[in-house]
Amino acid sequence: MKVLEGRSALVTGGSRGIGAAIATELARRGADVVVNYSASAQAADDVVRSIEEFGGRAWPLQADISEPESCTRLVETTVAQLGSLDILVNNAGITRDGLLVRMSDDDWRSVIDTNLGGAFAMTRAAAKVMMKARSGSIINIASVIGLVGNAGQANYAAAKAGLIGFTKSVARELAPRSVRVNAIAPGFIETEMTATLSEPVRSAALGQIAMKEFGTPEDVAAAVAFFASDEARYITGQVLAVDGGMTFV
Ligand code: NAP
Repeated sequence: MKVLEGRSALVTGGSRGIGAAIATELARRGADVVVNYSASAQAADDVVRSIEEFGGRAWPLQADISEPESCTRLVETTVAQLGSLDILVNNAGITRDGLLVRMSDDDWRSVIDTNLGGAFAMTRAAAKVMMKARSGSIINIASVIGLVGNAGQANYAAAKAGLIGFTKSVARELAPRSVRVNAIAPGFIETEMTATLSEPVRSAALGQIAMKEFGTPEDVAAAVAFFASDEARYITGQVLAVDGGMTFV
């Protein structure tokens, strides 16, 4: 029997990049997976189709997680479709990079609303279901930028550092109901988000990585699958860096 057989999972931003790899890995380990997306309907359909090709079960579901009402609806629809919600992965995220003095209110707000507000509204809705069931695993995709900061990413760093504090607080609140909450802090992972980085930025990043290579979405997905499983039953409130040795002290 596969380790996540009989579990239902919801992955925000599951249509591309890291989220697509997470949805695929959870399905490969037996979970029924809702693949959430905001705009990329075709990409979400492609992820679902590739999961079905290896015998997994997945459904695409549109919702803009920067809107709290959409998050509530997304969780309700998932529970109606799958019968329960055992695993929530708050993965959807955006960047709007720029130096602080030139950063617009809109670039600040959209990153905070999506990367932090989305995780808050999703977790609040999912927690009600999981607390009632007295079981569940919530995994927040933060970033090493939330640990160490980055020039030109004050909005993104604030959101990801906030997500780490949020993870630890909610882990304390939900632990008595056997709901675990952990975070993963990926380093530089090859996706569309990092594809636009200039060559000097890429080589500067490589210089900081002990393993001297960027990670893959599958590297992050493997860590998510571990946190989602019963193998991690005694682990909550943790932040795991998946960064090739970029930030360890
Ligand atoms: P990506 O390739 O740009 O994909 C982002 C995903 O999020 C897409 O599926 C996108 O779906 C979805 N999304 C964006 N805004 C959304 C919204 N409002 N509602 C619902 N879905 C939304 O990004 P990625 O590199 O895979 O990053 C995934 C997560 O890992 C993010 O939280 C990111 O901050 C984090 N991370 C990435 C790296 C890296 O090196 N790549 C490093 C550290 C952390 P649509 O296309 O449908 O909008």
